[in-house]
Amino acid sequence: MPLQEITSAIARAEASAGRAPGSVRLIAVSKMQPLDRVRAVLDQGHRVFGENRVQEAAGKWPDLMAHHGAVELHLIGPLQTNKARQAVELFAAVQSLDRPKLARTLARLAQERGQCPDLFIQINTGEEPQKAGVAPAGADAFVAECRAMDLPVRGLMCIPPAGEEPSLHFALLAKIAARNGLAGLSMGMSDDFETAIAQGATHVRVGSAIFGARESG
Ligand SMILES: *Cc1c(COP(=O)(O)O)cnc(C)c1O
Repeated sequence: MPLQEITSAIARAEASAGRAPGSVRLIAVSKMQPLDRVRAVLDQGHRVFGENRVQEAAGKWPDLMAHHGAVELHLIGPLQTNKARQAVELFAAVQSLDRPKLARTLARLAQERGQCPDLFIQINTGEEPQKAGVAPAGADAFVAECRAMDLPVRGLMCIPPAGEEPSLHFALLAKIAARNGLAGLSMGMSDDFETAIAQGATHVRVGSAIFGARESG
């Protein structure tokens, strides 16, 4: 589906949810996509992209940006502390903050650099053992812990369990964000971004619906 169909679908979902036009940011998830597809989306003027691996992003984006101009990159996959420095240099936002050790590392880097990417705390709404993210029951305490380190926590992110009704997870994420006074809600992917927008998403992460199926890797 071309980019323009997704942006139109987002606009319709905003309108039917009674939300302001432009209140939802589209993160085009370019992980494991052939570069010609990524360039095509850049050529259409899109400037917000998501990647789930630091290494892969560092391998392609400096060059793409040199040719197409700056883009706003969001890290949407797990971040190891030994890659944190590289990540804060490349990404405008890190959406996978999920543990105290990483928070402390990011706080130290923020001190040192005088700046920090926007941060989203990942919540494991389905409490899946194999999935990253803070358990819902630990979310309030972790938000407070990050704020005490002066980290710029802008919102929450979740990836609902495959095969489950995503609405319940989106609602839970919205509830945790509201009670913590967080405005950002990163939720919704190719199959469910319209549902997520109806439930308050401020950021949707859409990959295959824009670019087509990913290369396996
Ligand atoms: C890959 C990925 C997406 C995009 O998934 P699609 O189904 O291709 O839209 C969104 N969020 C995260 C965290 C991802 O890893």
